[in-house]
Amino acid sequence: MQEISPLVVAQRQLDMAATKLELDPNIHAILREPARVLEVNFPVRMDDGTVKVFKGYRAQHNNAIGPAKGGVRFHPQVTLEEVKALSMWMTFKCGVLGLPYGGGKGGVVVDPTTLSRGELERLSRAYIGAISPLIGPDQDIPAPDVNTNPQIMAWMMDEFSKYKGGITYPGVVTGKPIIVGGSLGRGEATGRGCVIAVREAAKRLGIKLQGAIGVVQGFGNVGSATARFLAKEGVKIIAIMEVDGGIFNAEGIDPEKLIAYREKAGTITTYPGSRPIDNQELFALECDVLVPAALENQITAENAGEIKAKLIVEAANGPTTPEADEILARRGICLVPDILANAGGVTVSYFEWVQNFMNYYWTEEEVNSRLEQKMVEAFACIYQMSQDYGVEMRMAAYMVSIARLAEAIRVRGWA
Ligand code: GLU
Repeated sequence: MQEISPLVVAQRQLDMAATKLELDPNIHAILREPARVLEVNFPVRMDDGTVKVFKGYRAQHNNAIGPAKGGVRFHPQVTLEEVKALSMWMTFKCGVLGLPYGGGKGGVVVDPTTLSRGELERLSRAYIGAISPLIGPDQDIPAPDVNTNPQIMAWMMDEFSKYKGGITYPGVVTGKPIIVGGSLGRGEATGRGCVIAVREAAKRLGIKLQGAIGVVQGFGNVGSATARFLAKEGVKIIAIMEVDGGIFNAEGIDPEKLIAYREKAGTITTYPGSRPIDNQELFALECDVLVPAALENQITAENAGEIKAKLIVEAANGPTTPEADEILARRGICLVPDILANAGGVTVSYFEWVQNFMNYYWTEEEVNSRLEQKMVEAFACIYQMSQDYGVEMRMAAYMVSIARLAEAIRVRGWA
């Protein structure tokens, strides 16, 4: 399979929306590349006394509407192009939800499963130290992404605070543990938001979620929470994929039980009552809702023709290529794009940041109800746009977001 650069995908999506909107070419040019990119190479002392130099990146795509915002991923295949693309998607995502942010994204080239806890802590601190000149609560606010979590965010916030003379800056990072300024509801916010998107789409497509069939690719923070919330809506999840393999059970898999099982077994692949399944078979399963919740470039021209789902909701960033989008559209499969579907995470990150500034913390109910309101509103706006213009929801989401960005760029006098 030929790997498609996520940056090429993000730029192609932008180009198509720019054409449709007859966007000012200067604004289009501004949005085609991140405004700022930093590459860092930093040493980390390993447990055996040796020193390893790791490579990391931070891209800030645009700050016309507000500071850059977006996660940091730890993954052996992280590339500069990928981080750039992910920072673009963050800008458009924040635009879709109307959040006062631009997009940012960071990454470190590392397989964190090979590190001890001490090594992971030193790596997280060293990375944040290396990018510290570029970040801050009103400049660029990192958050969790693939293979990063609240503990890592706490180390990063703590390290940044040291650079600022020991003053604690909780608003420099979101997705923190509650005790150090995290928000209730942040951990499962992306999954919760995805299922709001599933529900809103299902309503319009006439799919009844009670008894509907679901398939989830990816069982990390986002995939596992999405699976749990889907099951609560009555969706029967027949297949789940993880990095080390997938499982299938026509009778349905209980995500809560699967999470508990993985805690003990360290894998989902041996889950009793299920049989193994690979990605190819998983994508071709007969189902109502398919949720890609892993990495980029999963639904491509090669497998889009095989997909039998009625609805695809993108919990991952960039899982579908433009060629695949075309095939899915032709086949009448409804797709809720990443920049809408997975925006629950950054939305609650925004709430966390607001709470950090106020130093006053909301109840979980308040967080969840504000998230619900924002997601339902954004969904309705994008859906309406797609109906009015006769375009797919991805195009509609780009159009809404770019129109907002273009206005900010214009009034600031950049173009
Ligand atoms: N990494 C998440 C995303 O891709 C969340 C970003 C954030 O909360 O800033 O949307």
